[in-house]
Amino acid sequence: MLTSFLNESFDGAKAELYLLELPMKASLQAAHGSTTYRQLTVVSIETSAGKGWGECSALTSATYGTASAAQCFEQLRSMLPHSFAAQTYSEALTILRSNVDPLAYAAVEMAALDLALHTENISLKQWLGATKNFVKAGAVLGLPADSQSLQSQIEKTVAEGYKRIKVKITPQTDLAVFKAITTEHNNVEVHVDPNGSFERHHSDELRKLFDIGVTAIEQPFPPIDRQSAQALTTYATKHHRFVVADEAADSLASIRQIAQNEIANAISVKSSRLGGLLATQAVQQHCLSHGLAMSAGGMLESGLGRTALSVLAACDGFTLTGDVSPASRWLQKDPWQDSALIDGKIEVPDSVGITPPPDKKILNAVTKQHWAMI
Ligand SMILES: [Mg+2]
Repeated sequence: MLTSFLNESFDGAKAELYLLELPMKASLQAAHGSTTYRQLTVVSIETSAGKGWGECSALTSATYGTASAAQCFEQLRSMLPHSFAAQTYSEALTILRSNVDPLAYAAVEMAALDLALHTENISLKQWLGATKNFVKAGAVLGLPADSQSLQSQIEKTVAEGYKRIKVKITPQTDLAVFKAITTEHNNVEVHVDPNGSFERHHSDELRKLFDIGVTAIEQPFPPIDRQSAQALTTYATKHHRFVVADEAADSLASIRQIAQNEIANAISVKSSRLGGLLATQAVQQHCLSHGLAMSAGGMLESGLGRTALSVLAACDGFTLTGDVSPASRWLQKDPWQDSALIDGKIEVPDSVGITPPPDKKILNAVTKQHWAMI
């Protein structure tokens, strides 16, 4: 379906860009900084057949080699007129792919896909072949100020119904607190995410986290430290635990290396960072055939990106609970329809396209910059 769409004539297609500033409920502190509002670039493509929307998940600040939301907006503003001069969608996307950040590219591909799905009257769920109707929800907690505040945040999140909690940590976090957490909440899957901030001499402490019941450690070491990651992965596999590659898993090529060198036994799949949902399907096949578990990785998306994330989490091989929670966990305002948390689960949407169109009023209220292709 999409293949034939991609080869269709591009005549008369128009693009619009929006740089949004979405106020956040609470600052989400991670090892690489905190933020009180979320800048977000979104793109729409309009033809006589309709309109499609795509989200660029680049964060407010550039991080781990990816551009910021505002930089992606600028890249797309300068490149879209060139790429849209192409004859077909396929040609336009090829031009774009080699000239902008993967996150910016993924937004345009998502808009083209949303438009194609609407034209064909099918849902993203059908197109991706997602098999589940519900996925387990996973909450992410920012860096705790201290052990007591972490424990109270966990109580609150468990009370909301979450059965998986991922906590951002650094080498300064008191890891002893996780013993109490895993004992008290033995039906909750506990993950930690140091965002690559630990070093080799912390390996014993990380192994201990597995021993006391932590299910997964996401990107424990910087991507460059393969030796430490390999040793921890061997230990994790033996004890049915997971070392999840996140920052290191930025392309199919790097995921091939991860599988070959056994420096993780799970991948945080972020479709935007991989350069869109088409590239993600190739990654999914590779992970399935090489025994790598997958987890749908979040990037503080709006309801638009969250919808795509929950559908991805419902696909084959996504056996490790992902960052699947409603955008309203962090956003005060959101132009898109959000997913709902029901009994610790998220219903996988099956409506036509990726998502219904945004609420115009809210979209206008949060738009800081707008550009339309003439
Ligand atoms: Mg992560």
